[in-house]
Amino acid sequence: MKRYHVTTFGCQMNAHDSERIKGLLEDLGLGEAASQDDADVLVFNTCTIREKPDTRLAAYLGNAKVLKERDPSRIVAVGGCYAEAQRERIFDRYPFVDVAFGPGSIAHLQDWVGAGGHGLPRGRFGTGETRAFAAELPQHRERSTQAWVQVSMGCNSVCSYCIVPKVRGREVSRRPGEILAEVERLARDGVKEVTLLGQNVNSWGRDLLPDVRTEFGELLRAVDAVEGIERIRFTSPHPKDFRAPVIEAMAACASVCEHAHLPVQSGSSRVLKRMRRTYSRERYLSLVSRLREAIPDLALTTDIIVGFPGETEADFDQTLSLVEEVRFDGAFTFIYSPRAGTEAASMPDQVPDEVRGERLERLVHAVQRIAAERQAERIGRVEEVLVEGRSRTDAALLRGRTRRNTTVNFNGAGAVGELVPVRVEAATSTTLRGTQLAAVAA
Ligand code: SAM
Ligand code: SF4
Repeated sequence: MKRYHVTTFGCQMNAHDSERIKGLLEDLGLGEAASQDDADVLVFNTCTIREKPDTRLAAYLGNAKVLKERDPSRIVAVGGCYAEAQRERIFDRYPFVDVAFGPGSIAHLQDWVGAGGHGLPRGRFGTGETRAFAAELPQHRERSTQAWVQVSMGCNSVCSYCIVPKVRGREVSRRPGEILAEVERLARDGVKEVTLLGQNVNSWGRDLLPDVRTEFGELLRAVDAVEGIERIRFTSPHPKDFRAPVIEAMAACASVCEHAHLPVQSGSSRVLKRMRRTYSRERYLSLVSRLREAIPDLALTTDIIVGFPGETEADFDQTLSLVEEVRFDGAFTFIYSPRAGTEAASMPDQVPDEVRGERLERLVHAVQRIAAERQAERIGRVEEVLVEGRSRTDAALLRGRTRRNTTVNFNGAGAVGELVPVRVEAATSTTLRGTQLAAVAA
């Protein structure tokens, strides 16, 4: 049996797409290899959001080149956002790559591998007319009781730093009937938790008008009504699309988790304007208040970029003060990385490396201190935990996640997929430690 290996970089959408890539290859009769060295088909599902993943990919491809030289019948395939961004150059830069495909044309990999690479063009890409939902392809799910559900592809925003609209194209929403059919199928298979995925997940539905009259809040309500689904998450919402019906649906639906990942990017209205985020600091803070009023005990996480072109010390202070004011439960923090072809990459006032690095350090310090304080507030509480498996750091413990999306390592006996009550006994900035409560006899 021929074997494949998939290496995944980047976001949750890529994690989802990789499950489809694996499903496609298994449909062709290939089995999964434990490592690249043992594989006949090597797939790289790439990211290009910042320079770092580009550099990491180059190192991985260096190894693939050596493997290919050892056995030229091996197929090396590069998919995802980097492949799309470099579509003109990829075969020049990496001549040993056999096939490349953009995020909207994953099925092309199946055509190519299925035909043994004969009679088909070397590369094909999927922006524009030819894009298709990966969600319609076969799937190899990595987790038995949790699943990603793609609700849209592409993004209509024009954030001046971001390469996503260029590589993933305009936003297209999946039809509600198709989404619900998939969620129902997953529930029948024993899935308890679904994460709805879109680059801008809460603007879902707008492009279906006037054909289908709906919006993201209604989608949440419809998924909530599916029997067997105990938890609904969604990522990433854009603050500008967090309208009243979405907040109301979050508050009303028992299975929608008390967690919102709400990327702020900067605390300075001046920088937000140059980023083209279309909200100000004040509007973001007012959204946070509305969310917290409607959903008690809500966990809030965010994404923040430091060193955006033109960011002054005063702008950065505004970011620090916003972090102190909101008190996020966690944050992904990034140094601004210029991406060729984006508006911000050609802005004149790029911030020097050492200033960006020093700001990141100060930001991470504040984020971690506050996250540790927020998690410590959970000590003594009983949290509902979805059991995911054995702890990664101590095999004697189980691992799971709270509704607020914090990982918990705990003493207990729950089976994978079970929801169990756990008393929290200790906390770090990112994890909790606890003990499962004994089942109360009926
Ligand atoms: N669609 C989501 C949104 O609007 O918030 C997230 C998209 S992106 C995959 C995830 C995060 O990467 C962004 O929220 C942003 O913080 C970060 N990011 C995007 N472009 C970047 C760049 N050029 N440099 C540094 N960070 C970047
Ligand atoms: Fe990028 Fe902005 Fe779209 Fe998010 S909303 S994917 S940051 S352009």
